[in-house]
Amino acid sequence: MEQAHPYVKHAYLEELLPPKRLLFLVNPKAGARAQRRIAEALEAHLDHRQFVYTVWQTERPGHATELAHKAREEGYDIIVSVGGDGSAQEVAAALLHTNTIMGVLPAGSGNGLAMHLGYGRHLERAIRLLNTAEVKTIDCGLVNGRPFVNISGIGYDGVVAERMKNSPRRGFWPYLFHSVFGGLAYRPVHYMVEVDGRRWEGDFFVVSVANGPMYGYHFQIAPDARLDDGLFSVVMFRNVPRWRYFMAIPSSLNGRLYEERFVLHFKAKEVKVTCTPPTFAHADGESLGRGEHFQFEIVPQALKILVPTRS
Ligand SMILES: [Mg+2]
Repeated sequence: MEQAHPYVKHAYLEELLPPKRLLFLVNPKAGARAQRRIAEALEAHLDHRQFVYTVWQTERPGHATELAHKAREEGYDIIVSVGGDGSAQEVAAALLHTNTIMGVLPAGSGNGLAMHLGYGRHLERAIRLLNTAEVKTIDCGLVNGRPFVNISGIGYDGVVAERMKNSPRRGFWPYLFHSVFGGLAYRPVHYMVEVDGRRWEGDFFVVSVANGPMYGYHFQIAPDARLDDGLFSVVMFRNVPRWRYFMAIPSSLNGRLYEERFVLHFKAKEVKVTCTPPTFAHADGESLGRGEHFQFEIVPQALKILVPTRS
């Protein structure tokens, strides 16, 4: 019998496979110059034999979710959020438990998810990494029923998100400014935190519930967080003098935050938080406003996502 040649057959088939349909959802808040740069970078760096692509602009908050639903119905294979964690969250909300694959390109003020996945901060390089990326399935978090992909938090975190929402400028320096002055002004509130049935009570500066480990800019709030372990990493800062938080910034950048004595951390599937008085919260850097009760649930293996192949 004639010998089959799987290698030859495979290479031949690859030539015949139609290219994947890829949609980029771009937030115009990035600015006209950034948008032109994105268009040029896609032309120059995307592998056009593998992908045919379209770019759509989002026009308002929540629009990326609507557009992602529409694109899924139109049969796009991959929908790439071009922006920060907030944009990724909006796209993810439309793709949970579907076969449509999400991609992320870093172009926001907080690119924690893209950074953690290994896309880095440079758009051109991130596009090249998309060409050889592989599909993984990750968990997603819910805060009061609303999906988030990276980090949600209550207290100090929420205040910074609220200040950023009202800030006309984005990027690192406004973020740093609001982090510092938000931190100096913020007074911890009283919390009751139930972590998988265990209860903690006290005054905390921040209560973070993390699916991924970092905000943008390498700040790691939850160095042990994994996107696919079916668990949250819950991180709480006890109320200590502010300078101790500032002193801990290097540990946060080095992934050693848990060595600080004011940090409490747990792994959990379910978290319930009550705070008095009501305080600010965020999901993926988007302010949720003030609230008193927050319920977090992990949704395991909810989202297919493109991840750079490690060489
Ligand atoms: Mg996890």
